[in-house]
Amino acid sequence: MSKPVEHRCGLVALGGRTNVGKSTLLNRLVGQKVAIVSPRPQTTRRRILGIRTDRGAQYLFLDAPGLHHPRQELNRRMLDTARRTLAEAHVIVGMIEAGGRLDPADRAMLGELAAVGKPLIVAINKVDLLRRDYLLPLIDQLAKELPNVEIVPVSALRADNLEELLEVIRQRLPVGPPLMPEDEYTDQTERMLAEEVIREKIFLKMREEVPFSTAVTIESFSDVPEKNLKRIEALIVVERESHKGMLIGAGGQNLKQIGTAARLELEKMLGARVFVQTTVKVEPGWTADPRRLADYGL
Ligand code: GDP
Ligand code: MG
Repeated sequence: MSKPVEHRCGLVALGGRTNVGKSTLLNRLVGQKVAIVSPRPQTTRRRILGIRTDRGAQYLFLDAPGLHHPRQELNRRMLDTARRTLAEAHVIVGMIEAGGRLDPADRAMLGELAAVGKPLIVAINKVDLLRRDYLLPLIDQLAKELPNVEIVPVSALRADNLEELLEVIRQRLPVGPPLMPEDEYTDQTERMLAEEVIREKIFLKMREEVPFSTAVTIESFSDVPEKNLKRIEALIVVERESHKGMLIGAGGQNLKQIGTAARLELEKMLGARVFVQTTVKVEPGWTADPRRLADYGL
């Protein structure tokens, strides 16, 4: 007779430098889009909870902003959020990108994660980009430098080796019943998801500094259930007049494309027809103003 599997449940923090693929992994593991993804660094600003419920475990994943050095108030808040998330977790998954050797910034980051004193798992992501004969020396090097740490190579994008990662995490979670309803996959409201998706489309569309000094806030969100329709009015806040011009674009075409991309994504996520209306406003200095940051949920 095999021993019954003990149910486990706990908080799993995803740590790592910006752009290594934490949000991509979170979405894959949850099976739903809960965190926005872009090829630009520092896309994730808030702590995002993604829930995965399996037979033997419920995983409460926390995606936090990457650890990086603060230059301004917005960055300082993002770093505080990252640190608080690590302090709450039962297990930490430190993610690095597959590369030839462990680079000094990753070594420092993993050192910081190890110092939190929780079980640490190192996920080497983006192995789809690396030849196998480059991966093995990296694993060896990590195993030597971090002897008590489990190392799991994955590709979040291609969903490679994620079952293995889940099992390694499961074994380190506390035994206990599920803490969240089984059909829930995030603690974000539809309003918050809408803000994040619009921000993602701005990140994907705009170059240079514009996305980094942009906030999105939903001014009105209304359901028209008989038409299976959701109406969203979003305010996009930028720091400078010139940013507003770039964001809107010639003949309003950038803003229009951002709105359309957000609508299509939200229709998939929310399972309804969605109507998105956007307004752009200039608020000089919002990224340094504690009250404004609080208004934008930061
Ligand atoms: P985060 O800043 O750590 O949350 O990183 P994101 O999840 O936003 O991903 C940053 C970029 O890396 C995006 O362009 C992703 O599509 C890409 N990415 C994430 N995981 C993988 C992977 O396994 N393989 C490859 N090739 N790209 C990936
Ligand atoms: Mg992210």
